[in-house]
Amino acid sequence: MTIEDLRKLTHKHSHSKIKKVISKCMYRDRRNYKVIKEFFNYTCQCCKYKLRSTSGKYIIQIAHIIPHSKTRDNRLENLLVLCSRCHQEFDYSDKRNRILSRIRRNFPEVKYNEIETI
Ligand SMILES: [Zn+2]
Repeated sequence: MTIEDLRKLTHKHSHSKIKKVISKCMYRDRRNYKVIKEFFNYTCQCCKYKLRSTSGKYIIQIAHIIPHSKTRDNRLENLLVLCSRCHQEFDYSDKRNRILSRIRRNFPEVKYNEIETI
C-alpha cells in the first residue's frame, strides 16, 4: 500500500488514525535507507569517499533526488548515498546536476528519479 492509497482512504477513517498509519508507513519506508547504504557499501556514490568512525560506524548520508519534504518519496530510485560534502553540494549548491551526472556515470545500471530542476 502506498501513501497515496492511504490518502484515498481518508474519507473512511478519522484524520488522526490515518495520520498515524501514514507516518508508520513512512517510517517503514526508511528501511530503504539501510538497504541502499549496504548496497553501495557505505561509500559516496559521487566521490567514492568512505568514512568509518573510531567506534566503527560508517558516516554516510541519504539524499533525496526529489526532496523528502515534498513527496515523502523513500523509494530506492529517489535515494542517493552521499558523503556529507556531496550531500550539502547536492542540496544547496548549483552543482546538483553535475553531481547527479557523475553518479549516473559511476553507476549507469541504476535507475534514478528524474532530477527536479530548482
Ligand atoms: Zn562524496
